[in-house]
Amino acid sequence: MRAILTFHSIDDSGSIISYPRKKFSTLLEKLRKSDIPILSLDEILASPSKQGVAITFDDGMRSVYKDALPILKEYNAPAHVFIATAAIKNSDSSEQVINIEDYDMLSWGEIEKLLASGIQIEAHTHRHPDMRTISREQILEEFHLSHEILASKIGVKPNYFAYPFGYHNQLARDCASEFYTASLTTELKPLPKSYDIAAIPRLDSFYFQTSKTINKLDTPLMEVYLKLRNFMRNLKGSQCKATAV
Ligand SMILES: [Zn+2]
Repeated sequence: MRAILTFHSIDDSGSIISYPRKKFSTLLEKLRKSDIPILSLDEILASPSKQGVAITFDDGMRSVYKDALPILKEYNAPAHVFIATAAIKNSDSSEQVINIEDYDMLSWGEIEKLLASGIQIEAHTHRHPDMRTISREQILEEFHLSHEILASKIGVKPNYFAYPFGYHNQLARDCASEFYTASLTTELKPLPKSYDIAAIPRLDSFYFQTSKTINKLDTPLMEVYLKLRNFMRNLKGSQCKATAV
């Protein structure tokens, strides 16, 4: 098993971006019992033969601090949180954040506590735009703003980037390559041995919510399951239908 998992919120609301708290524990327990190590992005990307799973959270939902962190600590699991800086509570900015303004978001104080617990904070733009629809200047402005705010609020320079909604094009990938060690998409695939460093696939946790699918992890059935999910997702005409943000 070699994969990067995407989560948004850990809560029991049943929303399209929520992963139930108890299932999150079950998933980490399953990984432990299966001897699948939970690795940081640095570790899993260090070698093409590295086996394990990396955990990522997109957007900066408050439940990452409130509900996911205690479970991550229990399993001593590293994780990365991709923050859309304009969406963070107590931000000086009152700018429009696309699609995530209605959620309960982290505060800078909570982000500092995540950092202090060893969680790594990464970039997810400032305003969370669809990057296929903006110019090079606008893309670079998103990156610069995000970096300035992360540096001034928490003293962090992000290494990794996740495309909002998973959407990207050649221009976005070229710009991201200038800024980040690697950039992550929502293409539903395990981590292959070779990949474009500006378009790394991830497995959306939306598809791993039942015990049945959790138990498929690390079995040959998983490949068949992912191919089927990909086929159905493409059939719906959207690259990331299941992932609202
Ligand atoms: Zn997002």
